[in-house]
Amino acid sequence: MPYRSPVTDYTFLLSHVVGYDRVSGTEKYAEAGADMVSAILTEAGRMCDEVMAPLQRGGDLNPARLENGALRSSPGFAEGWKAIAEGGWIGMSGSPEHGGMGLPMAVTTAVNDMMSGACLSLQLAPLMSQGQIEALEHHASDAIKELYLPKLISGEWSGTMNLTEPQAGSDVGALSSKAEPNGDGTYAVTGQKIFISWGDNDFCDNVCHLVLARLPDGVPGTKGISLFLVPRNLPEENGNAGVANSLKVVSLEHKMGLHGSPTCVMQYDGATGWLVGEEHGGMAAMFTMMNNARLGVGGQGVGVAEAAWQHAMAYAMERKQGKSASGTIADHADVRRMLTSMKADVFAARAILASCAVAIDMGNATGSAEWKARAAFLTPIAKAFGTDTGIAVSEAGVQVHGGMGFIEETGAAQFYRDVRVTAIYEGTNGIQAMDLVARKMMDGGEAAAKLLDEIEDHAERARGRLPELAGPVWEATETLREATEWMVAQGEMNDRFAGAVPFLRAFARVLGGHFHLIAALSDPGGAREKLARFYINALLPEHAGLLEQAQGGCADLYAISLEELSA
Ligand SMILES: Cc1cc2nc3c(=O)[nH]c(=O)nc-3n(C[C@H](O)[C@H](O)[C@H](O)COP(=O)(O)OP(=O)(O)OC[C@H]3O[C@@H](n4cnc5c(N)ncnc54)[C@H](O)[C@@H]3O)c2cc1C
Repeated sequence: MPYRSPVTDYTFLLSHVVGYDRVSGTEKYAEAGADMVSAILTEAGRMCDEVMAPLQRGGDLNPARLENGALRSSPGFAEGWKAIAEGGWIGMSGSPEHGGMGLPMAVTTAVNDMMSGACLSLQLAPLMSQGQIEALEHHASDAIKELYLPKLISGEWSGTMNLTEPQAGSDVGALSSKAEPNGDGTYAVTGQKIFISWGDNDFCDNVCHLVLARLPDGVPGTKGISLFLVPRNLPEENGNAGVANSLKVVSLEHKMGLHGSPTCVMQYDGATGWLVGEEHGGMAAMFTMMNNARLGVGGQGVGVAEAAWQHAMAYAMERKQGKSASGTIADHADVRRMLTSMKADVFAARAILASCAVAIDMGNATGSAEWKARAAFLTPIAKAFGTDTGIAVSEAGVQVHGGMGFIEETGAAQFYRDVRVTAIYEGTNGIQAMDLVARKMMDGGEAAAKLLDEIEDHAERARGRLPELAGPVWEATETLREATEWMVAQGEMNDRFAGAVPFLRAFARVLGGHFHLIAALSDPGGAREKLARFYINALLPEHAGLLEQAQGGCADLYAISLEELSA
C-alpha cells in the first residue's frame, strides 16, 4: 500500500488547531501565510510519496555497508538525498542569507514528519544536517558560517552530531575525547565516538562532524566540554572539499532496524577541527542542535505512526475473516479499537509536536520569554510522546496484520523495528521525562501552570457547545494540575524521577484531549468530532491511572534491594 503524505491533515492542524496564524502574523514569518504553507506541503508531500517512500523497503533489505573503508549507501539513497536537497528541504529553516528558505519550524516540522513516514532511514540524514545548520547559525564564527552554511543548506555537504562514546551515553559529561590547540587557531581532535548516525555517505562532497571533546584545561563533567567542527575533508581556500582529515569510520553497527541509516563507530586521530562557540561552552552549543533534533525525532515517531496506521488500515479493509458488516476485519470491534486508537493518537501526538514548533517560532519571532518557556516545556513531551506513539502505533499495526504482521514482506514489522530507536536516541524517553519534572519545573511550575490555565479556559468556553467532551477535558486538566503541584513540591528529586515517565505521558494525554476538543469544535458532527469523542472517552481516562503512578514517590522502588530484585 503506497504511503500518502498527510498534507490535508497538516493544513487543517496548522490552520484550525495549533494557532499557526500567530506565527504568520509576526513580521519575521509574514511571508509564510496559509496559502504558501499549503503549497509547500503539497510539493514536499509529492517528493515524499514519489521519491522517498519507494526507497523504504530497499533500505531495509540492502543496508548501508563499508567496503574497504568507503561507505556505500543503500540503493537509491543518493538519488533520494539529491531530491531532498534540490527541493530545498534540508535548509527549510536555514537563514536566507546562506541559501535557506527561512521558514518557520512549524513548516519544517511538518515536512520532516512526512519525510519520516516515507523513509525514516534516509530522513535521518537531512535531520542531522538541519540540527548542525541551526547550531552553526547560533554559535559559529562568521568565517565558519560563510564557508559551511551554504554547502550544508544546499546539501553539497552533510552534517552529523558526535556525542556518544562507549562510557558516555546518557552521561555525556563522562566523555574522554580530547582537543589540543594546534597554535594556528585550529585544534587536533582525538577520540572514539560510537553510534554516529550517517557518520559517512557516498553522496556528499564532504561530511561535517560536530564533535564534543575536552580541551587540556577542561574540567571533568559537562562544564569542561567544548564543541568542534571536524570535516571529513579539509576545505581548500576556494571552498572545495580538499584532502582527507585524520578521521575514519571504523565499523558500522548491525541493528534491529533503521538499516538504511549507517550507524558508525568514528575514530578521530588528531583530526583538524575548529572551535564552535566558547571554549568549555560546548554543551550550550550542542543543546541548540539537540533541541532541534529532539523535536525532529518526535516528528520521526509521528511520521512512522502515520505510515504504520495507513498500512494497517489498508490491510484491514482488504482482509476477510469471520462475519462482519463489510466482511473484512476492519469491522470487528477489536480491530476497530486498534485502528481508531492509532488514528486518534497520531492526531494527538502530531498536534503536540506542531504546537511545540509554533511555540519555538513565536519565541524566535517575538523574543518572548513566555513563548520560549512554553517551547522548552513542550519539547520533552513532543519528543517522548511522539516516539512512544510511533512505537505503540506500529506495534498495533503488526497486530492488525495478524500473522502477516510478523512476516517481513508486508512491511508492517519494518515500521516497528525502524521506529524503536527513536525512544532511545536524542536522550532516552526516561531522560526526557526527568528533564520535564526537574529542569523544566525549575520555574516552580509556572510554564506548566500557564499551559494548564489555557487548556481549562478553552474547555470552559467549549462547555456551551460540546459539554460532554469539554467536561472531561476540564476535569482531567484539574487532576493534572494537582499532580503538577505535587511534583513541584517534592524536594527529593528521586521522588519526582520515579514518577516522571507516567507524569509526562499523562501530560501528553491531557494535551491530546485539548487538541482533539479544538478539532471537534471546528467539525461539528463530522469525522473530527467523532474521533475526538473516541479519544476523550476511551484514551484520555488513562491519565488518571498514570497520575496515581506519577505521585507514588520512590520509596516502594527502593524498598526492594537489588539483591532481592535480582533473586
Ligand atoms: C541507531 C542509533 C543512532 C544513534 N545516533 C547517534 C548520533 O548520531 N550521535 C550520537 O552522539 N549518539 C547517537 N546515538 C546514541 C544515543 O544517543 C544513545 O544510545 C543514548 O543517548 C543512550 O545512551 P546509551 O546507549 O549509552 O544508554 P545508557 O545511557 O547506558 O542508558 C541505559 C538505560 O539507563 C537509563 N539511564 C541512564 N542514565 C540515567 C539516569 N541518570 N537516570 C535515569 N535513567 C538513566 C536510560 O534511560 C536507559 O534506559 C545513537 C544510538 C543509536 C542506537
